[in-house]
This record gives sequence, structure tokens and C-alpha cells, in this order.
Amino acid sequence: MNRRGFLKSIAGFSIALAGAQLAIPVTAKCKMIAPLTDLVGKTFLDQRIKDNIAKFKQDNPHLKIGETHCHSIFSDGTYSVDKIMGRAARLGLDFMIITEHVQPHLYPLEHALASIKERGRCCDEWNHPGLDPIDVYPAFELSTLQGHLILVMDKDYLKPKFLGELKTRFSHLDQKMISMEDSAKMVQPLGGVSIIPHPERERAYPFGVPISFARQYLTGLVDAIEDISTGHGYEENYSQELGMASIGSSDDHFNLIIGTTVTGYDSRKHKNLLSAIKARETLAVKINESLDDILGMARLVL
Ligand SMILES: [Zn+2]
Ligand SMILES: [Zn+2]
Repeated sequence: MNRRGFLKSIAGFSIALAGAQLAIPVTAKCKMIAPLTDLVGKTFLDQRIKDNIAKFKQDNPHLKIGETHCHSIFSDGTYSVDKIMGRAARLGLDFMIITEHVQPHLYPLEHALASIKERGRCCDEWNHPGLDPIDVYPAFELSTLQGHLILVMDKDYLKPKFLGELKTRFSHLDQKMISMEDSAKMVQPLGGVSIIPHPERERAYPFGVPISFARQYLTGLVDAIEDISTGHGYEENYSQELGMASIGSSDDHFNLIIGTTVTGYDSRKHKNLLSAIKARETLAVKINESLDDILGMARLVL
């Protein structure tokens, strides 16, 4: 096999593992996959995403765009918060939201709060010369009785002095799962929003809430829904039917597909993403499709 063929097969293998989001221990995943996804990113993917983002921003100068769903080593991702934030800034994104899992007896709240604290620290001690610090939000992805729900809080909650309040408000989530309706209500007093990730996607445990449930119980309560997802391989228009804000994201666990699908808002009308989501004035944008075929195959095969 020549060098190009070798690189292509390595890329395929690593993307397949990344796309399938295999349930293998995080430490093993880090060892196996991180060097491979690094190689894929460096050899071809980053430049493609970066070029497409630059072109999109040139055509839409008032839009702020960013990633709203991905994971770091504080839950089941394989990269550090600092590395993810640095790459997102390098790709040209304006903001990013890391969404660590919180689930009783599996992903403790304490780890999600440590991730939030680390985001604040990385902003304050920005360590990526030549790049402006990227805008970040405190958030996590909660396992509820009906499936996952992303909760994003006001940026004030990045400050260490407010972490104690988050701990007090959410500590019961370590004990047992609650309903999606009650989960959505919890974020409202914190100036935050709730986002339904990967609706209709089924796993052996509550994962993607069915649209029929969302229609009946979540309209007027949950703020937004993922219309486009690179990680889960679909493009829909759920938000319009449900009267929610439209979200595009990657659900990246490997610092690989961040930025391939993004959420945008008009910075002339809204001071931040949360304001745009509350007004239902966001849009989901597909930035790069070069991995879609191989991710699709990975979902079928693995
Ligand atoms: Zn999820
Ligand atoms: Zn996720």
C-alpha cells in the first residue's frame, strides 16, 4: 500500500470508530483513536472546515456561528477542554458549547462542573497565541427519563463563585433521573435554555426523545432542537413544526467533526446565542460534508 492509501485507510478507521461512538473505556479510546483523529485533522479535514467557515462568514458577515454539542475528557470525549477550545478558535468559530454527560451513577455532576470551571480558566488564561479567545457557555447534557436534554446556562455561571449554586441546584441529578419537562424547567431561573439533541435516535436506554412526545409535552417549554447533526447523520426541520429554535451541531467526541455543522445567529439583533434561541431566531448550517459518507458507513457497520 502506498503512503496515500495508508493514510486513507487510517483516516477511515479512525473516523469509523469516532462516528460509531463505541462504548469502550475512555482511556482505551484516547490511546487508540486520539493519534488517528489528530492525523486526519492535520492531513486534510481542518483546512477544509476552516476554508468553508471563512467563506460562509464572508457571505454572512453579521452571523455569529458556533458548535453547540460536543464532549471532552470530563465525560466520554477523548480530548481536553483546552485542545477543543483551541481547535474551535483555529477553525474560525465564534462560540462553542461543550456538553458533558450527567447521568446518575455513570457521569457525575461534579465532572461536568469541573469541565465548566476549566472552560472559564481556559478563557482567562488563553494559551493559543495568534487566536482570539473563543466565546464559551456553561452547559451539560442531562440524561432524563425520556432521553438526553442539553441545558445551557447564562455565561455568569462560568464564574467560579457561581459553581456552588449550580452544585446545590443540580445535586439531586446524581441520585435519579427526572422527566424531560422538569429538567427543562430547571434551567429557566438560570437565564438558560434547553435543547433537544438527536431526536428520534434510538438506543437501548433513553436517548433521542420521539417527536410525538416533544409535540405533546415539550412545545412552549423546551427552547430548541437539533435539526441537523453531523454525528447522527440527519438533516430535518423539526424546529419549525415544534416552534423551537433551530440548532445544527456535531455531537463530536473526538475533536474531529466540530464545526462541520453549526448554529448561527444575527449579532446585530442578539447580544448572544441564548437571546437568539429564546427569540427562536437561530439557524442550523451545514459547513462541510466531506466525512458524511464514511460516517454513514461507520454507523451501519459498527
Ligand atoms: Zn446525547
Ligand atoms: Zn452528546
